[in-house]
Order: sequence, then C-alpha cells, then structure tokens
Amino acid sequence: MPFSLFLKVIHLPLIKILLRKELINIVMIYSWRESEMPTKAIKFLLLLVSIILVFLIPYAILKTEYDLILYGGKIVDGTGKGFFKADIGIRNGKIAKISRWKLRFARSSKKVRIDGLIASPGFIDVHTHIEPYLLTKGPFIGENFLRQGITTLITGNCGTSLINVKELSRWISKKGSLLNIATLIGYNSLWENEVHGSYRKLLPQEIRNITKVLCKSLEDGALGLSIGPYRAGNVVALEDIEPLLKIVAERGGVFAIHLRDEGVNQIEALKEALSIADKTGVTLVVSHFKLSGPINWGKAEGRLNLIESFRKKGVKVFMSQYPYTASSTSLDFLMPLWAKKQPTKIYSLLRDSRSREKIKMDMIRNLENNGWKDLSFAYIAWCRTSELNGMNIKNISSIREFLCKPTGLQTSKISNQVEVVLDLIERGGAQMIYHDINENDMLLIAKYPYVVFCSDSGVRTPGVGQPHPRGYGAFPRIFSYYVKEKKILSLEEAVKRMTYLPSLIYQIKNRGLIREGYWADITIFDYDEIQDLATFSQPFLPPKGIKYVIVNGEVVLNQNNIEMKFSGKFIRRAF
Ligand SMILES: [Zn+2]
Repeated sequence: MPFSLFLKVIHLPLIKILLRKELINIVMIYSWRESEMPTKAIKFLLLLVSIILVFLIPYAILKTEYDLILYGGKIVDGTGKGFFKADIGIRNGKIAKISRWKLRFARSSKKVRIDGLIASPGFIDVHTHIEPYLLTKGPFIGENFLRQGITTLITGNCGTSLINVKELSRWISKKGSLLNIATLIGYNSLWENEVHGSYRKLLPQEIRNITKVLCKSLEDGALGLSIGPYRAGNVVALEDIEPLLKIVAERGGVFAIHLRDEGVNQIEALKEALSIADKTGVTLVVSHFKLSGPINWGKAEGRLNLIESFRKKGVKVFMSQYPYTASSTSLDFLMPLWAKKQPTKIYSLLRDSRSREKIKMDMIRNLENNGWKDLSFAYIAWCRTSELNGMNIKNISSIREFLCKPTGLQTSKISNQVEVVLDLIERGGAQMIYHDINENDMLLIAKYPYVVFCSDSGVRTPGVGQPHPRGYGAFPRIFSYYVKEKKILSLEEAVKRMTYLPSLIYQIKNRGLIREGYWADITIFDYDEIQDLATFSQPFLPPKGIKYVIVNGEVVLNQNNIEMKFSGKFIRRAF
C-alpha cells in the first residue's frame, strides 16, 4: 500500500478515534470511585501505549528511506556460509539494511524484485592490465569486465603500472569510471621511470629514487608491488629488491609476482618467491599460478605441497588463477633469457646471422626442455598481419613451406616454425595464446583454498584480434565450469574466492561482503543460467546469467543494458 494511502485510510482516522477516547477517559478519571481504580487505570495505560505506538510506527517508516531496495534475492554474502533469503536496502552507496521483513513497507526511490536470483558481493578481479585505458580523455568503461559481474579491478600487475597513484585517483574522480579501480605499483615500471631503457645494475642514487617513488605510491593508496619477467624484471634478482619488499610488508601491502619461469624451471622460481616472502614477511600473491608445458603436467600437487609447507611456517602465500588451460602473453616470451635481458637490442640481434642462429638453437632447446615437439600449441591472438590472427605457428609455417615449395609432403620442421616466430617478432611482434596447461593441474589449483580468481585481461575491443576468451568469460566460467560442471567448489566457496578473500589479501576495506555498512557493490545472477559463452574462436561473446551489477549503490548493468552512471571509485589500500 502506498504510504499516502496508508496515512489517509488507516493512520489519521485511528489517531482521531484514540484522541477522542483519551479525552473521555481524562474526564472519567476524575469521577472514578476508589473500587474502580485498578481496571480503569490499566485501561488508561493501555490507551496511552496505543497512542504512542500509533505515532511511532509511521515515524519509523518515514525515517527509513532508501535509494534502492532489492527484494526477494538469495544472498550469498561472501563469507562462504550458506545462502539466506533477505531484502537489501541501499542508501548513499552503502548497504543500509539487510532484512527478511523490515524492508517490506519501507520507502525507496527504486525497488527491484530479484526473486530466485543470487545476490553476491561484486566480484573483485585481482589481476588485470588496464593501463592503456587509464588517464585518457574519457571515462573508464571496461564493458567486458562489467558483463562478467566484476565491480572492482586490480591493475598494475606483472611489473607494469602507472607510477603516479595520486594522478590516477584524481583522474577517476574527475572523468569517472563504471568500475572501482585499485592498482599495484610495477617494479619494472619503477625501473623504467628511473633508468629509461637501460638494463644495467642500478646505481645507489637510482635505488634511493625508486624507493622514494614506491613509498609515495603506497602512501597514495597503492595495494603493493608487482614484478614480472619482462624487460627490467629479467635483469633484477629478487634479493636485490628485498629492502623494497620490507617497506611493502611494513605497510601491509602485497607482493604480486609473475614467476620468472612458469615452465621447466618453475619450481626454482617458486622457491625463490616463497623464500623472499619468508624473509621479508610480505604477503605473497603468485600471479596467474600455473604449470606450463608438458614437462610440468601432473606436478601441481607437489607444488601445492611446497606452498603449504611455507604456509605452515606462517608465510602468507596466496595465488590467483584464471579457469582456462591456455595462457596468453607476448610472442617474444619464447626467446632465450639472454636475449630477453637485452630488450633494446632484440632487432639488431636478429639481424646478425650468428646471433640469430644462436637465438634459434636456444629456442628449439628451450621448447624441447619444456616437452614441446612443435609450435602447434602457440596461436596468434593479435599481430599486424591480421590474416594470421587465430592461426597457430605450426600451420603458418606449413603454409609458408607450401608456398615456397608446393610439391611433396609438408612436414614443417620445428626450426622452420621458430623462423616464423623470429620473422613475426621482427615485424612488430604478436600477442599469443599458448595452450600449455594441464586440465587436472588447473582443477587441483582451483580447489586450493588460498587461490583467488582473475581474468588476467585488458579492456577488450570487440572485433580486434582473436584474444583469449578470459576477457569476457573468466568469472562466469568459475560457476559454469568449476561449480556446476566439475563440482569442485560450492557456490558459496566460489563467491568467497572472488569477493571476501581478495578483499582480505589486498586490504580493501568495506567491500567483498554483503553486510550492513559495506559499500553496495552487488552482483545479481541466475545460478542455473550463468555461463561463459566466449570461446577461443568467438572470444567477444558476453556471458549469460548476469542480471544486474551494482557499483557503489548504482545499477550499472541492468539486464543487458549498461547504464553510464560512473559510480566507480579509486580504491586505496586500508591502512
Ligand atoms: Zn603476468
């Protein structure tokens, strides 16, 4: 019943009646005889209580006004506990009330019925690469993340980030963002900011400068430090950055590492990271944790045991993961380490016939050491020759051989395939998809309770290239594949690993739970329907089943429509 109608029909007439009775009683009380006193006094008291109640109830209803109320949802609150049914009242961007009954007659500017749907905290994507879309002229949109139910992005991973965190936070409040954004500081970027394209050992003054910039960034809200085996990340030893990690640890930040090697030498790289976390006390996040290459397949259990042994010693270790058996990175990742350590000289090395031959031989040896017989596992996601997008290196090599020598059987040798790789690098490189992960290893890792989930994606532009489907599918796939198909996680556990656990690891305050007083970042989805649709051949298909996404109290995804509310905020580390 509308409130005005309630006032007219019930409330005001009731007050009139009561007031009339009260006057009669006041007159009567003076004429009461001694014997009548007890019953009449009780009657009078009851009348007074009724009057007070009749005044108080509408006052309470009037006072509780909301901007949005979600009715009838099943709440999976992020703690990992079983779902419960309740309504959610949102006011000033925050969850003001969660109740089974109390919101039924409350006033609200907007009411949405979500009967039968799951309402969970908005998903936190702990590993993204959105730098090219920050500090731009327009606002941040990130449609491919939003359609997955993600409300908070953590960028600045694998060593690459913006350096000026204050500038980022100002840009977000000025230009706007559909999603919340937080950032790590990339060590590789700190280095390049200081040394500009040189990969020698740092001078003491340069180290002091880098330390200063890191401290300032942490003060301005960065979540921690990241590093990756790109450029400077290949020339620095982890022990060299020990003082920086101590600073991060003191301030409660995280150290997110893309391991130096995820292939044949992964165990050494993992031990190096675990040891430095043990030594410095920093919270370690092993980014997009995986075991690449046939040589590693089936070894996930051993790696998890190693991690567990460090956890038992009190080392804070977590991992992130995306739910696919393929990874994605640049083509020059296949180059030998000695060449990668000289990123500015790559082209001249490739032009020199002797060093080119050495690169080629080392690449073949490296592929064999990792258990690969050819490059059929390596697909082009994007390169300048767009006709090659979506093809694998072995096929490209076979076609090239056929065109050069169109007779006889085409059996592309690995050396010819590596030549294709080098030619592509010389022509501007390529973003690749490597089908290099074992399914069982992936599932074992997903089950480990200290693994959180991520897309490892950038902003997608539909139609450009043939990128990894994780950009549109990673989070819904956790539900459709891990929860519903493989049944390795419960719904509640999956939600916890996308929401509450990341908020604890990365020190994000008042988000990650459906709880009164928390920011209203809420994802509403149909459990039966939720599914990723993006595939390696159709990577831009949005998932199905995500019904609403609410960011800081504003509905930004309404069924399939994106509403340009730009309610996203810059997220600082809580300290
Ligand atoms: Zn990475």
